Amino acid sequence: MTDDNQPHDDAAQHADGSTADGTNRAAGGRGSGADWTDPATDGGNDRATDGGAAVDDGEFEPVQVFPEAEDADLRPGADDCYKCSTCDTTCPVAEVDEAFPGPKFQGPEQWRLKRSEDHDVDDSISKCSNCMRCDSACPSDVPLSQMHNTARAQYVDEQVSKTSATYWRNRLLANYGTMARLGSTFPRLTNAVLGNSLVQTLNERLLGITAEREFPAFATETFREWYAERGGEAASVENARRARRERDDPPDADKRVAYFHGDYANHNTPAVAKALVAVYESFGYAVLVPDQRCSGTPMFANGMLEDARRAARVNVENFAELVEDGVDVVCSCTSCSMALRQEYPELFSIPGTAKVAANTYDAVEYLRINEDLDGELAAADVTASDVGVDSFAYHAPCHARNQGLDGQTVELLSRVDGVDAEDVGDSCSGISGTYGWKTEHYDTSMKIGDEMFEHMAAADATTGMTECPTCAMQMEHGTGYEIEHPLEVLEAVLVDGPDEAS
Ligand code: SF4
Ligand code: SF4
Repeated sequence: MTDDNQPHDDAAQHADGSTADGTNRAAGGRGSGADWTDPATDGGNDRATDGGAAVDDGEFEPVQVFPEAEDADLRPGADDCYKCSTCDTTCPVAEVDEAFPGPKFQGPEQWRLKRSEDHDVDDSISKCSNCMRCDSACPSDVPLSQMHNTARAQYVDEQVSKTSATYWRNRLLANYGTMARLGSTFPRLTNAVLGNSLVQTLNERLLGITAEREFPAFATETFREWYAERGGEAASVENARRARRERDDPPDADKRVAYFHGDYANHNTPAVAKALVAVYESFGYAVLVPDQRCSGTPMFANGMLEDARRAARVNVENFAELVEDGVDVVCSCTSCSMALRQEYPELFSIPGTAKVAANTYDAVEYLRINEDLDGELAAADVTASDVGVDSFAYHAPCHARNQGLDGQTVELLSRVDGVDAEDVGDSCSGISGTYGWKTEHYDTSMKIGDEMFEHMAAADATTGMTECPTCAMQMEHGTGYEIEHPLEVLEAVLVDGPDEAS
């Protein structure tokens, strides 16, 4: 499967869970996957020839019992579904919207229906928020999100009018990086324009972008501008060497990470990206920042698979080179790490994807694996008053749960003297990236978020906390809490210390 121009042909995954280029699905994801090869390009599926007969030399000779079976779609991905409906019971959209048929229909059932050429992709696919909760809920390892992503792309390619306002709205939201680059050129002006209530009303009427939410502000200096201004890679290498000397680590140790910051941390929340650099340098790591594009997460969710493929190609090429040189990749956004670890290998056959996927980590996860992060937090000479916050209401993003990362933040922060971190439950925040920004999904998004809002109110904490920037928007929107990223707290405790106390 090497044709990069065919979105539905290169999503190859083998029976052992490895993909076309040998990648396993994301850590914490399914253990074994399904063969997702397309019979049209794979010469048909061997399972269609079951019912063979023994021949004289003792070898098994397949017998074609049903001639039409050559055309049968018996891909195990769909065939593995035994209709237990566990996925449907975990779907947050199905829970609040009775009209949404749920992941079982969007996945295996739709694939069966589609075999008959008179069936289009059902337009309810556009109601799936791509939260991926169904993905990790399935006990039979059916690759649901892979099915949803390919079905959504087919739906957009073949059934959505390219002149409709919805198509262009989705295109705009999916390509947030392009909008952010323009916005960051004149950030103050852009913030004033986007914050204007008349502009918000026009956006809602003309494009279908809800006026209920406030656009996130663009920073006056992007993370990449800050990084270049302070001396780029050379400055980070020097800072890391100094930290290793102070820590009595071998000064020549090869401690380097490649940071995938994504568009949002670059343009909107550079404080999170700067916190990552500060924390990693304090552990003696040089932080490299290769050229990069959007992870593709909003593109998958909007069925813009070709846009995602172009972005993924740049990302994989630029990061694979460093991975070859022994450098691991770290992400501050759990949807970005999810894309690099699971969605790229599931959907694309770009050389180097497997290596990048196997060497990508959430930023906090990486430090837990490679450093004594728990010990250093417990030993830190700071208290809750130094951090400025004594209690956090923490929400684990769905994509963090998919990677098995949901418990780590509360556990870690509880090490800090006097800090109380409360997990506000396992519900979905409801915003799912661009989903909750669409006028037609806003109410659904807020209904899904209700459970989290209630738990946050009950937690009565000082500050909210999450790793996902759009979950942070929803938490703030639904509760009024200010939201921090765990890396900002690690910076306050491990780098700033009591001298920098607020
Ligand atoms: S959870 Fe898996 S096996 Fe059960 S209905 Fe959903 S896709 Fe099928
Ligand atoms: S990805 Fe989320 S919204 Fe979509 S079908 Fe699965 S659980 Fe439901």
